[in-house]
Amino acid sequence: MAKSTVERMLAGFKSFKAMYYEQRPERVEDLVNMGQKPEVLLIACSDSRVDPAILTNAEPGEMFVIRNVANLVPPYEPDENYHGTSSAIEFAVRDLKVKDIVILGHSACGGMQALVEHGEAGKVPDRDFIGEWVSMAKCCLVHGPDVDKVSRHSIRNSLQNLMSFPFIRERVEAGDLNLHGWWYGMKEGVLWRFDAERDEFVQGEE
Ligand SMILES: [Zn+2]
Repeated sequence: MAKSTVERMLAGFKSFKAMYYEQRPERVEDLVNMGQKPEVLLIACSDSRVDPAILTNAEPGEMFVIRNVANLVPPYEPDENYHGTSSAIEFAVRDLKVKDIVILGHSACGGMQALVEHGEAGKVPDRDFIGEWVSMAKCCLVHGPDVDKVSRHSIRNSLQNLMSFPFIRERVEAGDLNLHGWWYGMKEGVLWRFDAERDEFVQGEE
């Protein structure tokens, strides 16, 4: 009988263990004994096709990763609500003192599709959470209805929202923290990067 995905994942853990614990035990020892010191905070979509570590060939300990629907950064709103994304951002910037924040979006994003279809209403029929979540980027709908285009504008919007966090703005202005917007075109296998001076996305990994 064919193996289920979960069964293959258990086998995958064995090969991970062989690679890191048997071939390079000193690296794991450092991560355990010295704690994590990632230099990069990466904010990506939960989409199963865009795993940040696979896309960037990153090693354990290199990136602190937040994944949520449509890789969105909310504005700075310290109130009594449950802020999963903002608390992870706070920890990465204030405690881990990352040097770079990368927002990684992608083509054909289901969350962005929901934004385009229901963001204005702020409610997806028969769903409890997603409509309100994606509506935080509804200002990007003026660039619609092309989902990929709205998706790229939402990265620009999220970069602006990052700057609404006082502890981020302070470190960016001091030159201690750099913000990046990346967008992955899945079909072509191309990475676009936001060029703040030109205020547009440019192609290429160099
Ligand atoms: Zn997505």
